[in-house]
Parts: sequence; C-alpha cells; structure tokens
Amino acid sequence: MAMSLRYTCESCGFTVEGWDDGNPYVGYENGDRDYYYHPISESEVFEMIMKKGLNELRRGNALDHICMNCESITMLDPYHDKMVCRKCKGTELIETYEMGGKSCPKCEGKMDMGKMGAIS
Ligand SMILES: [Zn+2]
Ligand SMILES: [Zn+2]
Repeated sequence: MAMSLRYTCESCGFTVEGWDDGNPYVGYENGDRDYYYHPISESEVFEMIMKKGLNELRRGNALDHICMNCESITMLDPYHDKMVCRKCKGTELIETYEMGGKSCPKCEGKMDMGKMGAIS
C-alpha cells in the first residue's frame, strides 16, 4: 500500500504530491525500462519481461523528483540515474516526498509539512 502527502506552498498555493514509495521498474540491456505498479506478483513481472523479449539488466526503484527550475516531475533512480530534469536539464531536483519545509520552486515561499493525500 502506498500513501501520498500533499505539500502546499504557504505563499503562492503551489502544490506537489509525494508518494512514500517509488516506481519499481525492470531495466533492460538496451536502456529501456518497464515500470510496474504494485501489488504485482513475481510471476507477473516475469511475464512482462518475457513479453519484452530483452535481457533484464537490473531491477530498480525510481522516485518522483521535482525540478526546482521548471516544476516538472521526473522519475529518477538515485542509484543509477543522472539527477537531471528531463524537461529543462536542470540539476536541482528534490524528491517530491521530501518537499516538506523546502523552498517553493515557484516563488520565495516555503512548502508546508504536508497533508495526507491519497492512498492506493
Ligand atoms: Zn510558492
Ligand atoms: Zn526542469
């Protein structure tokens, strides 16, 4: 089960949602990735890999990161990915779940400590 927190900027009202778990994926030898959402069984993951017809390189977990420059969300695996925004190539990225008390990407304000959001 995953849970989200919704952070709101105390000054401009900008909101960002952060999930307490990431986006698990299977990475392939050619750089492709298939994201899957739990609950999914090991045999379903295996089926997905077979369908792809590529060799599995690794499993990983990508987390939502917000760009402090353009506010877009990029899924990045901190262990394997370059921390770069896919949209503007900015490098100042913060995990969305860690946005509580951080500065707002849109204005000079501060994000609040988050309110309970969705559960899935
Ligand atoms: Zn703001
Ligand atoms: Zn950006």
